[in-house]
Amino acid sequence: MKLNVDFSALHQAIAPLGKVAASFSVTRHVNELESIASHLTIGVILGKDIQLDEIDGSHGVLSYHGDQVMLYIPDQGDEIQFILEDGKQGCRIHVAECSTLELMRETGRFDRYKVINRVDGFFPVFGRNFKLKQDIKGEADLGVCKNCLTLLNYQGYSSQGHRVKNQVVNAFSFEQLFSTYSAHFNSLPSNKKKGNYTADWDSISTQLRSELDYTCEQCDVNLTQYTKLLHAHHVNGNKADNGRSNLRALCIDCHKKQPHHSHMRVSNEDVLIINRLRREQHKFDVFDYQQLRDCADTALDGLLQKCQTMGLPQGELGVVINADVNPKPKPKPKPKPGKDNGNRDNNWDNNNWIAIDLCWQKRNVAVLIKSENTARLQRHGWTVFSAFEALNEFERFQAKVR
Ligand SMILES: [Zn+2]
Ligand SMILES: [Zn+2]
Ligand SMILES: [Zn+2]
Repeated sequence: MKLNVDFSALHQAIAPLGKVAASFSVTRHVNELESIASHLTIGVILGKDIQLDEIDGSHGVLSYHGDQVMLYIPDQGDEIQFILEDGKQGCRIHVAECSTLELMRETGRFDRYKVINRVDGFFPVFGRNFKLKQDIKGEADLGVCKNCLTLLNYQGYSSQGHRVKNQVVNAFSFEQLFSTYSAHFNSLPSNKKKGNYTADWDSISTQLRSELDYTCEQCDVNLTQYTKLLHAHHVNGNKADNGRSNLRALCIDCHKKQPHHSHMRVSNEDVLIINRLRREQHKFDVFDYQQLRDCADTALDGLLQKCQTMGLPQGELGVVINADVNPKPKPKPKPKPGKDNGNRDNNWDNNNWIAIDLCWQKRNVAVLIKSENTARLQRHGWTVFSAFEALNEFERFQAKVR
């Protein structure tokens, strides 16, 4: 917590709030993160220039022009001192288009909210101690809105009992939430520093991965065709400890799902490739819900937990259909072994193939994270839901699946 007391007319100084910059630096993982739009620099409250009606909640989580954001009310009134001591007593951070936000929109009080996309858990706040006639500002560790967690079924929140709900809230990390839904967005904000890799790390990593024939030690998928999708991971987190027992070759999907890896962003396209390969390589032949959740894009986890709770038949991952003019699927071309250059094999870069995030093939029901192929799949007789539609309109969805 940082606390600055200012006796001047602070409200005036910070009234626009559009220029309030937080006092910590941004370090990006060059390899793991794509650049984030400059206007969404981490820790800057986005006030003036953003029209709140441009905030989109249609994926469930809130977004602004392709970047994930949160909404909150920085003005904590005369509670400010308590809230600087314990942010969990203050206004909640909204991460989804929850019932509270809807009500605020309807009653015209939506413009009290400010937009931010900071993931370290601290948020700029201000207020006034009326007794002492002091304006006060600082940073508070505000908590996440529980209505938002319910709406997203985040970590199964909506179906949990009181005790587990509290655990989810207490262990909640904004960084982890952003990582969970990264498939929907262009980039992740990050405040993590790149670890201290040894100078010979690249060759150690290459040797380990090639010795294992580019196979993930967790899910067993072979990535000879896509060597860049296999990482070498330090089990104890110490990047200088390159002993074999501290190293694991993991596909980027399994890697991102390791503890303390919520700074990693894995694109939706890469998860689709890995699941297509897992399927081709018969890793999905015996299947249960836990494996489904372990292998699916994390943005689907709220939906999958709901499906599991409601006893829906299991969906399938890695299904790819041919969306050629001829609606009858042709047999899939077999990927040819190619050079070890980490490039995608070209058979699948062909536009005719649509990779489906999650589907119930017998029912022709598909769940897509990205919507661009929705119409094409529908032309082929599929019923298509976005992940959030399926969760939010669960009755309609389950009627199609059962
Ligand atoms: Zn909310
Ligand atoms: Zn894996
Ligand atoms: Zn790692």
